[in-house]
Amino acid sequence: LDPTNEHFTPEEFDVEKQLRPLSFSDFTGQDQVLENLQIFVQAANQRDEALDHTLFHGPPGLGKTTLANILANELQVGIKITSGPVLDKPGDLAGLLTNLDDRDVLFIDEIHRLSPIVEEYLYSAMEDFKIDIMIESGPNARTVQINLNPFTLVGATTRSGLLTAPMRARFGIQSRLQYYNTELLTTIVQRSSDILNMPITMEAAIEIAGRSRGTPRIANALLRRVRDFAQIKGNGTIDIAIAKFALKALNVDAYGLDEMDNKILTTIIDKFKGGPVGVSTIATAVSESPETIEEVYEPFLIQQGFIVRTPRGREVTELAYKHLGKVKGPIQGG
Ligand code: ATP
Repeated sequence: LDPTNEHFTPEEFDVEKQLRPLSFSDFTGQDQVLENLQIFVQAANQRDEALDHTLFHGPPGLGKTTLANILANELQVGIKITSGPVLDKPGDLAGLLTNLDDRDVLFIDEIHRLSPIVEEYLYSAMEDFKIDIMIESGPNARTVQINLNPFTLVGATTRSGLLTAPMRARFGIQSRLQYYNTELLTTIVQRSSDILNMPITMEAAIEIAGRSRGTPRIANALLRRVRDFAQIKGNGTIDIAIAKFALKALNVDAYGLDEMDNKILTTIIDKFKGGPVGVSTIATAVSESPETIEEVYEPFLIQQGFIVRTPRGREVTELAYKHLGKVKGPIQGG
């Protein structure tokens, strides 16, 4: 099981859809972000205007796609969903843009991966709700400008630093999503069990939440697997015993670190004497891309106090040595 894996089987995808909150009131956590969005949506609704373009940034699985859908629901408009790498030609984008109804939401996931030419094309669409379209070809080729319905672009990115400055400047609303604490994740696990019709004890919900890497998507993925254990090996209720048994069988550790998290820490300790060491060196040593290390793994390891950033690179902390049962010293095995 790789709970961070976004490529679900069709069955998992259905469950995923069932668990996705549909309205502001359904959504747990990110209070500050939500409070502001509620005001902006209410104001836009009152004025019957499109909501300002909105950017969500933060690590994967914290609810960016969910919030984009919620915005569309709360604005009572349609949503079209695409992603940066999919849009390779301005023509692809033009097709989407011209099909948007008044005030609709266009959600672009991984917006930092738009090609420069598509990105530039998007600028006038975002600013003036106008685009240039090339008609005919050969000697008769000419561009005509067409008006679009006012729409809201919702962009999602794992790191806003990857976005170009002109792109970032065109988002009137920018929200950073944070990792969820155990209490919030417990609420999410309980809500999901409810929807899945699977009774769960408070203690078991806390146990799953605490090992979910601060991430609702992982909490839901773990819950689904623990549910299988409860159904087959238990009595149909998720209690603490079955939760612990399942989490152990799934190799999920006490802090919710996954295999790659642990591999990163072990590598820094064993191969680089605990650091400091640069991200690209770590990435090569664990066979991952530096971007993934920086966007997916490192933020959580830093937040939980396993790694610190120094001017000379990344260093593991005492907590990492303790967690992995390693001794700090000049000579390390491995
Ligand atoms: P990515 O950018 O990797 O696509 P994401 O940030 O868009 O990730 P989502 O796909 O929105 O994340 O969320 C993952 C799943 O976690 C959702 O299907 C939803 O069920 C659940 N989820 C996310 N946030 C919440 C929340 N606040 N409350 C309840 N469930 C949530």
